[in-house]
Amino acid sequence: MSEKRTEIGEIGEFGLIEKLGKNVRIRHQDTLLGIGDDAAVLDGGDMVRVVTTDLLLEGVHFDLSYMPLQHLGFKAVAVNISDIAAMNAIPKHITVSIALSNRFSVEAVEELYKGIYAAAEHYNIDLVGGDTTASRTGLVISVTAMGQVEKGREVYRSGAKINDIICATGDLGGALVGLQVLEREKEVFLADPNMKPNLEQYAYVTGRQLRPDARMDIIHELRDLGVVPTSMLDISDGLASELFHICKQSQVGVLIYEDKLPIDKQTFDTALEFNMDPITCVLNGGEDYELLFTIDQKDFPKLEKHPDIHFIGHVTEEKEGKFLVTKSETAVALKAQGWKHF
Ligand code: ADP
Ligand code: MG
Repeated sequence: MSEKRTEIGEIGEFGLIEKLGKNVRIRHQDTLLGIGDDAAVLDGGDMVRVVTTDLLLEGVHFDLSYMPLQHLGFKAVAVNISDIAAMNAIPKHITVSIALSNRFSVEAVEELYKGIYAAAEHYNIDLVGGDTTASRTGLVISVTAMGQVEKGREVYRSGAKINDIICATGDLGGALVGLQVLEREKEVFLADPNMKPNLEQYAYVTGRQLRPDARMDIIHELRDLGVVPTSMLDISDGLASELFHICKQSQVGVLIYEDKLPIDKQTFDTALEFNMDPITCVLNGGEDYELLFTIDQKDFPKLEKHPDIHFIGHVTEEKEGKFLVTKSETAVALKAQGWKHF
């Protein structure tokens, strides 16, 4: 080993994954796609199988002082289902691994599993295994999800074509704003435990943070309408960061319009209350778990009237770059700040 020491922060999470992935050797023909998309894609005859995994750590990804265990169980599953949806696949099986410190009772773990079972019911999936171990640093939960889709219908980050229409589901920025509310109420409570948190007026945004729902409904609707997106991913790190993934992997540029970006009124108002720019929340807020996808223009009439799919811009040539057209009609270069873990 050389003497050189590089801090992970210098290359970032994506830089690190890229570095580690460079040396991977694929040994099996049925590995159609390994590292680099929302899920790996494996050949399964007429179908392809997709596999994804996510790791959640107490103190990094969740805070149990405001995250109820049942919600956490649901969310740990939902964030993985979101990656299966992002491949245009149907989830079927999950495994769940947990590490527990002695702070947790049997009853607490049962609460967590109530949420996991609720998600299994909601997404029509089977819990088929996992692992359980001790931890010295609180709760760790890791879920692996597997799904499938007819070969040829799977959707990668790399298929966007020039002039495709860029679509985003639901509304964005709510989960980040909800997190600010929860953090503030926690501070208020810590300062004075007699204070009762007033969360009612923030129910939508806190719900976005505490109980995200993967957009399997959209995947089923796209199938019913006969639309296969040209590229897709889920919005876990912020819209701008996800657009950068599409641009990089599809070798294209993007032009999006501020006035087309979907934001909920409560998200907008609460962002202002926190002196945050609502559009920055939409572009860089994490954990919305909506879908970002591109469609061929010929498919537009099929989705045009959908109440929850928003047409936010279009795909351009790579050399044209990545731009946001503001309400005052100036084009500003997009920056992918994303969610920084390091
Ligand atoms: P997502 O946000 O959709 O969950 P990530 O950004 O976490 O995706 O991961 C991007 C890609 O890198 C995925 O294909 C994932 O499987 C892969 N990946 C992440 N961490 C590692 C790792 N430590 N070793 C190998 N592959 C990894
Ligand atoms: Mg993803």
